Amino acid sequence: MIPYKHEPFTDFSIEKNRTAYLAGLKTVEAYLGQDYPLVIGGERVTTEDKIVSFNPADKEEIIGRVSKSNKELAEKAMQSALEAFKTWKKVKPEVRADVLLKAAAIVRRRKHEFSALLTKEAGKPWNEADADTAEAIDFLTYYAHQMLKMKDGMPVESRPGEDNRYDYIPLGVGVVISPWNFAFAIMAGTTVAAMVTGNTVLLKPASTTPVVAYKFIEVLEEAGMPAGVVNFIPGPGSEVGDYLVDHPKTRFISFTGSKEVGLRIADRSAKVNEGQVWMKRLIAEMGGKNTMVIDKEADLELAAQSIVKSAFGFSGQKCSAGSRAVVVEDVYDVVLERVIELTNELTIGNPTDQSNYMGPVIDSNSFKKIMSYIEIGKEEGRVVAGGTGDDSKGFFVNPTVIADLAPTDRVMQEEIFGPVVGFTKAKDFKEAIDIANNTEYGLTGGVITNNREHLEYAREEFHVGNLYFNRGCTGAIVGYQSFGGFNMSGTDSKAGGPDYLGLHMQAKTTSEMY
Ligand code: GLU
Repeated sequence: MIPYKHEPFTDFSIEKNRTAYLAGLKTVEAYLGQDYPLVIGGERVTTEDKIVSFNPADKEEIIGRVSKSNKELAEKAMQSALEAFKTWKKVKPEVRADVLLKAAAIVRRRKHEFSALLTKEAGKPWNEADADTAEAIDFLTYYAHQMLKMKDGMPVESRPGEDNRYDYIPLGVGVVISPWNFAFAIMAGTTVAAMVTGNTVLLKPASTTPVVAYKFIEVLEEAGMPAGVVNFIPGPGSEVGDYLVDHPKTRFISFTGSKEVGLRIADRSAKVNEGQVWMKRLIAEMGGKNTMVIDKEADLELAAQSIVKSAFGFSGQKCSAGSRAVVVEDVYDVVLERVIELTNELTIGNPTDQSNYMGPVIDSNSFKKIMSYIEIGKEEGRVVAGGTGDDSKGFFVNPTVIADLAPTDRVMQEEIFGPVVGFTKAKDFKEAIDIANNTEYGLTGGVITNNREHLEYAREEFHVGNLYFNRGCTGAIVGYQSFGGFNMSGTDSKAGGPDYLGLHMQAKTTSEMY
């Protein structure tokens, strides 16, 4: 088998690639506004009640109307997943991996169509959409490879006359609750990690981006996934999510989303309900309040570029986003000035237009939340760039820089999930790391310095799951920078990492005497 290598990003300065993306956009435009069913046990189920997915850059444009699951349909999906588990768990790991590899090949062939769909449904600019699709391909390929590595278990010792084995077996039915910000990559990655390990899945994608998830189910079917292995049941978290999290037959939950919802799931899933004979396992990837630390002995242009990219890529709607800059006082003014200049150069508008660096934020609630934090920022600090938004056609928030904040200010502590970065001054590098560590999260962080001792100090003291030196703090690559955080950022389940699949299995020891 070809060794794993990440899917390269598309260079859109090449005309051929631009044409390919625009052809993808045409394909997507031809199917906008259609109805999509649930998929339960391979059967299409249509409900009256629909989730309407619209384009966040243009509220009037409907991406699709997707059937909405409820408790009864969630129960039906659970029954079909339980039934499918009986056979899927016995399918050879090689065959399960083949489904993923073929799915990767199908997505690769339709790469620009998927990216264009992400542009329309999630508001992703071309390069961000392309990275999301590439990451989906990576998850499919990487987890297929990892499964093949783990299929014979782990070596253990045996004494003479004895044969000891250590094998991995699947867990059961997993509930996958996926986010809208990596509507393809994280949705697909969390789903296929669960299925390639022999489990069956109830997939509840984010209600803002269900169409791309439906398209992915079709890909899995085309790649040979048997009926009932992944069931597609979008629906409200308060009804479908809670019902399945509480369900006694749910064996594990794989969740990516906010801290509030993650903690709610942790709480509910810890309760043992009638008929339940296990403790549910929880994989949770939650929020972040991530810091770029800028030292005085640093490439200050790199510092400013890294702050801007980490803060404003996909409008700051990544849990990895760098929403705080902590700058050593000697260089604070220079770095801030350059960040303001770069921010003012950013273009914002409909992301179907390649020249726009930033598109909209995901919806009205998000728009309101971000704008209210900007108001808080005006009280706590100084808005030096952006600070405005426009939700007349879509949900656009201008990239915003808030200077002179105290480390404990709300804008420096709470996850905003939008294009807002706060600046704080530190007297020296050590104090900068202390400030960086003073949130309840611990997901990503970046350090810009040319001082080797300071890098080593940060390596030990900067308490985040993904720490980056002399680069920005977003853009982890599957198989290269395994992704997951400490503290309130989640269970540090490293997505795209060598031990991720293990979280979806249990180890069984057998010992035979000869
Ligand atoms: N893995 C992504 C990154 O490194 C972030 C994932 C997320 O926002 O959930 O930027």
